[in-house]
Amino acid sequence: MPAFHHPDAVLHRPAAFFKRGQMVPMPELPERADAILAMLRKRGNPLTVAPDAGSAPRAAVHTPELLTYLETVHARWTARPDFSEVVIPNVFQGPGMSGYPTDIMGQAGYHSFDLAAPIGAGTWAAVASSANVAVAAARLVGRGEARSAYALCRPPGHHAGRERVGGFCYLNNAAIAAQEVLSLLPAQGRRPRVAILDVDLHHGNGTQEIFYDRDDVFFASVHVDPAVFYPFLAGYAHERGVGRGLGTNLNLPLPVGSSEDAVLDAIAALIAAIRAYGPEVLVLSLGLDPYEGDPYQGFRVSTPGFARIGRAVAAMDLPTVLVQEGGYAVADLKQNLASFLDGFEAA
Ligand SMILES: [Zn+2]
Repeated sequence: MPAFHHPDAVLHRPAAFFKRGQMVPMPELPERADAILAMLRKRGNPLTVAPDAGSAPRAAVHTPELLTYLETVHARWTARPDFSEVVIPNVFQGPGMSGYPTDIMGQAGYHSFDLAAPIGAGTWAAVASSANVAVAAARLVGRGEARSAYALCRPPGHHAGRERVGGFCYLNNAAIAAQEVLSLLPAQGRRPRVAILDVDLHHGNGTQEIFYDRDDVFFASVHVDPAVFYPFLAGYAHERGVGRGLGTNLNLPLPVGSSEDAVLDAIAALIAAIRAYGPEVLVLSLGLDPYEGDPYQGFRVSTPGFARIGRAVAAMDLPTVLVQEGGYAVADLKQNLASFLDGFEAA
C-alpha cells in the first residue's frame, strides 16, 4: 500500500498539556511519527513525501478565522513580553458569548474547546504538513490511482472541529481527506458519498461536528463511553445527525475495559451500517489507542487484534484512505500498525 508522510511532522513538540488540574507530560510525541515511518520503510510500503496542497483543501473544512489563527498565533503570542512560549488559552466561549475578539488571548479561547492542544513554534508547520499528507492520500484514492493509501498524519486530527482545536488535534485530517475525495468523485446519478469509520479509542467529536448536518458523509465511530471518558461532551449513542444529516451519524460507545471481541463486534455493526449507506469511498480514522498496552487503558485490543480489524475493514471492498489518528504506546505502535496493514492487505 502506498504511504504518505512529511518530515515536518516532528516539528510540533510541546512538552506538556493541562489535565486533572495540572500540567502533565504530552504523550502525543514526535517519536510516534518516527517509529511508524521506520516501520513502513522496513516493511517496504512505497513512501512519498506529501507535496504542499495549498490552503484550499483545509479551507473546505475549517473556517478562515481558525486557519489564520493557527498560522499566526504563536508569533503573535510570543511577541507579547509577559506571555509564555507555548499558547494555552485561559478563557472559553460559553452560551451567549458570540463575539470574535481581535486580541490573541481572546482568539486562543475562541478557537479551543480544551487545554490539550498547546501551540509551539513548530506546531503550524507540522499541522499543515499533516493535512497535506491526508490530502495526498485522498487524491491518490479519489482519482482511482490506488485502491488504498495510508496517511502518516501527525499531529492527529479527529478531535478538531470546524473552528476549534483540542485533544492534541488542530486540523481535522480525516475530514479534509473526505472532503477532498468528494470533490474528486464524479456524480453518477446521485451526489457521491463518503463514509468515515473512526476506530480510535476516543470519539471523533470534531469529525462528527463537521459533517453533522450533511447526508453526503456518513460518520461511524466506536469508542469508550464519553459519560466516563474523553471527550466527555460528545460521542453519545443518541447523536444521530441533524437536518439532512439525520441518520448519517452513528456512535457505538462501549464500557471502559471492553474486550477485543466487543470492539470487533461493534466495528462489524458499524460496517453493516456503512454498507447500507452505500458510499463510494471509505476514510478510516485509524487510532491505535484501543491497544491493550496503550497508556489510556480504554479497550483491550491485542497486537493480532489489529489484523482482525484490518481484515474487517478490507472486507468492505471499498477504495480506502487510511488516516493515522491516536495511539500512545510509542514502542508498540510499529507492531500494531504492521499488524493492521498485514490484515488489511491479506483480505
Ligand atoms: Zn484517541
